[in-house]
Amino acid sequence: MGIFKNKDQFEGYNIYSMKKYVDKKRMIFTITAIIVVILTLALTIYYLVDTNIRIKKGKEFANQITEYEQNQKKIEEQKEAERKAKIPQLTEAGKENLKNIYHSQEKTAYLTFDDGPSNNTHEILDILKQYNIKATFFVLGSSIDANEGAKDILKEEVKRGHAIANHTYGHDYSYLYPGRVMNVKNILSDLEKSQNAMKAVLGKDFSTRVIRFPGGYWSWEGRTAMKEALEQNQYYNVDWNALNKDAEGTKKNAEQLVQCAKESVKALGPDADSVVLLMHDTYGKDK
Ligand SMILES: [Zn+2]
Repeated sequence: MGIFKNKDQFEGYNIYSMKKYVDKKRMIFTITAIIVVILTLALTIYYLVDTNIRIKKGKEFANQITEYEQNQKKIEEQKEAERKAKIPQLTEAGKENLKNIYHSQEKTAYLTFDDGPSNNTHEILDILKQYNIKATFFVLGSSIDANEGAKDILKEEVKRGHAIANHTYGHDYSYLYPGRVMNVKNILSDLEKSQNAMKAVLGKDFSTRVIRFPGGYWSWEGRTAMKEALEQNQYYNVDWNALNKDAEGTKKNAEQLVQCAKESVKALGPDADSVVLLMHDTYGKDK
């Protein structure tokens, strides 16, 4: 090695043995360096292979999730299709009647009573019987569930040949129309709940697809989405075009109610074919 050049001895040390010692040290250093390089390479390769495996596994897992989600979606769609297939269909004659409700051949007045059944319904039923008139009762599920008497009245309405329609379960504006926007999910759920209350009294085969929104269809935002949902769920909305104002302003006697109804009908004009008159057979409307 260069540092001692041609001298054999340096300050008492045997240069030859020192040279061997230095060579050995260099060898150890070289071997160590090679091992480090090999280890680094091995670790790098291991890291790359491992990362690849992880990426592959990750992809497989992501695929599995996608597949699972697609399957779940299919199951949901199938359930929805089954649910829709079970929805009772309105007869063609019924659909035609509803379509022509405001355009009848002869002048017709439809009497509709909302929010019942209640203690007042008995008297209404008797008066209707006296004049041989069939009316439509837009009932609330919550009114049906209020007491046993209400359930008997509902049965009586059907027995006497009146029509039963759905006016939601709870008549709760904040639940049905939060922020004055029709909440499709809540409305459908409330209508179904009301329908179930009717079925519990009238039997599982009973069904009505005619509905009336509390406050009326035109009072709320979000009607486009609601209209689609009604079509999909075979519901038919019937509003009113005249009212006796029994639920508005100060309490009125019979004469005042008749006067309000007459004014409301007159406002429709002479060309109106039919009148759908809104009244209430709920509590506190007994005169
Ligand atoms: Zn109502």
